[in-house]
Amino acid sequence: MPGRLRLHNIIYTTLLLMNFAKVRSLSSMTMKANNNLKTKSLTISWFRQDLRLHDNPQLNAAVQQSNRAIKNDVSKGIVPVYCFDPRFIGGDKYTKLGSQKCGVMRAKFVLESVADLRKNLEKNGSGLVVAHGKAEDIFGAMCKSIDTEVMNQNGDGVGIEPHVLVQEEPCSEEMRVDKAVKRSVKTFKSGASGSFESVWGASLYDIDDLPYAEGVNGIPDTFTPFRNKVEKNCKIPAPRPVPTKASIALPKNSAVLSVLNGESDNSVDNCSLSYMPSLKDLGYTQEEIDFAENPTTKGVMKFEGGETAGLKRVQDYIFDKDLLKIYFDTRNGMLGGDYSTKFSPWLALGCISPRFVAKECRRYEEETGIVNKSTYWVVFELLWGAYYRFFAAKHGNSIFFLDGLLGRDAHGSHPNSRKWGLNKKSLQAWKDGMTGYPLVDANMRELAATGFMSNRGRQNVASFLALDMNTDWRYGADHFESLLLDHEVTANWGNWCAAAGMTGGRVNRFNIVKQSKDYDKEGEYVRHWCPELSDVPTKLVHEPWKMTKEQQQEYGVRLGVEYPNPIVKPTSPNPYARDKRGGGGRGGGRGGGKNRKNNNNPNRGRGQRQDMKSLKQGNYDFN
Ligand SMILES: Cc1cc2nc3c(=O)[nH]c(=O)nc-3n(C[C@H](O)[C@H](O)[C@H](O)COP(=O)(O)OP(=O)(O)OC[C@H]3O[C@@H](n4cnc5c(N)ncnc54)[C@H](O)[C@@H]3O)c2cc1C
Repeated sequence: MPGRLRLHNIIYTTLLLMNFAKVRSLSSMTMKANNNLKTKSLTISWFRQDLRLHDNPQLNAAVQQSNRAIKNDVSKGIVPVYCFDPRFIGGDKYTKLGSQKCGVMRAKFVLESVADLRKNLEKNGSGLVVAHGKAEDIFGAMCKSIDTEVMNQNGDGVGIEPHVLVQEEPCSEEMRVDKAVKRSVKTFKSGASGSFESVWGASLYDIDDLPYAEGVNGIPDTFTPFRNKVEKNCKIPAPRPVPTKASIALPKNSAVLSVLNGESDNSVDNCSLSYMPSLKDLGYTQEEIDFAENPTTKGVMKFEGGETAGLKRVQDYIFDKDLLKIYFDTRNGMLGGDYSTKFSPWLALGCISPRFVAKECRRYEEETGIVNKSTYWVVFELLWGAYYRFFAAKHGNSIFFLDGLLGRDAHGSHPNSRKWGLNKKSLQAWKDGMTGYPLVDANMRELAATGFMSNRGRQNVASFLALDMNTDWRYGADHFESLLLDHEVTANWGNWCAAAGMTGGRVNRFNIVKQSKDYDKEGEYVRHWCPELSDVPTKLVHEPWKMTKEQQQEYGVRLGVEYPNPIVKPTSPNPYARDKRGGGGRGGGRGGGKNRKNNNNPNRGRGQRQDMKSLKQGNYDFN
């Protein structure tokens, strides 16, 4: 990094530390470690949304912590832990808005990912403590047990001093848990006191490198200026390699191991190096389990959780199938595994790192000599992911509020103001894929059956629920949170808040019929998920309400019987001027569709011209 930039970064970082205690409180909450050399330091690497060994800043920080401990001749090694926390996963955990917090499909993906993490840690001479319980209860009980066992070991009253490291999450539910865990590892019988450190790690660029004097609070509330400034001023930190076997080995201390192996009287129930809950243990019903274990073959692809499967998908997509070079042209598809990367479930759970993916894109460019808009554009999409994480860090709980960032302005003074409604019957029709709009229904049925939906689909169904059905958009986000395999809290709630216009930016009201015709020209996608429309000819398949009684008879689908009448009045063309071309992109991301090149289109609003600008190729570089 050039000296000037480094100096800037130091200034930014200092300001950031001074001004943003609220946001980054936990990373600076490291408690003062007990300097009593009699205690034995114990480094605990808590895996949460970073289920991987490659490029894992939290694990690397744990290695550093453990290295420091060795100098004092205290327990050498790292204890990796994963907690199935019933507040986040479990068949009987429901949200306030009524959805199962983590649907069974994602629960299965998480279980597979944790099992794979354990396998990879074991291959590297370590192991993984898996536990089922509230994180603070688990850490508190486990550390207390180890403390007692270690004190008994030599009878000298010397206990442990736990240091817990975890990847920092920017949203309140996780931050609340962090505070509780911090408290739970504080003081033990031996008098030792622990520490807690959260480490930023899931974004393409590092939060401390952001080129704003106010740090993360300085990021703009729209994506394009953020992208321009970050691409110009920042470098992506080079992904870190898997730590060496020696550096991540488990502690050798027999007292510690007896607790972790479940062999000590002090061992904690459902918490050991061999324990792994089943879906049933997590509270899912047999019917749900059968559903998750026998997925439909109609889905875009088979998603298997874990770093191993995630890395394989990256290799397949970029190199083996050679799809990266055409990503820009295919990314708006909806059918099949290859129109987009499908990296999202692995990225969301941290089975793969965005920096690693970016580096693989660069490797592809270097090895093949192919450098084009597509090879850049996957990295551009990863930047959206980073943006929403920063956005959540900046705006806190606002992304979960009905009025979003607008607050009181959402009640009249802001152009995006709206009076939200909630018709439970219509909401259920949306969830069930029974709105009478084939594009919406096909996407919602795909989500329910597979846990996945394309980006094009997500934008359309979100716009439809919030802006056409005028429904409290949080019910949509809540439903997505439950079902998406790739649910990532900042991406989901940030995208929904933006789709509803509550981030204050331009509202993209999608013309569903126009979108259907642009992105599913032959109606293949809607027929795939709405088989009752199989025999409806292409010119009517996106607007079945236009069928006459005779046509309904002829094509074997009666409206209101085999397929629903539209739940909101069809308006075609959509009366919203900004939408005449079929809606823009993801708040600046994927606008344009097929008419992209028609820059003289008089129907294009100012916002869409901005979209066109954001479709310009940018650049990325590494430290
Ligand atoms: C209402 C709504 C809700 C969404 N909820 C989520 C979510 O919970 N988790 C999630 O990962 N993405 C979410 N997205 C973003 C996007 O739709 C998915 O990331 C994408 O469809 C996943 O498919 P892919 O991996 O093939 O994406 P690709 O098109 O191949 O993109 C590559 C990666 O870039 C990232 N990315 C792309 N677009 C976005 C975006 N708009 N916001 C944040 N990251 C992005 C993802 O990590 C994605 O895997 C949401 C979008 C909308 C409109």
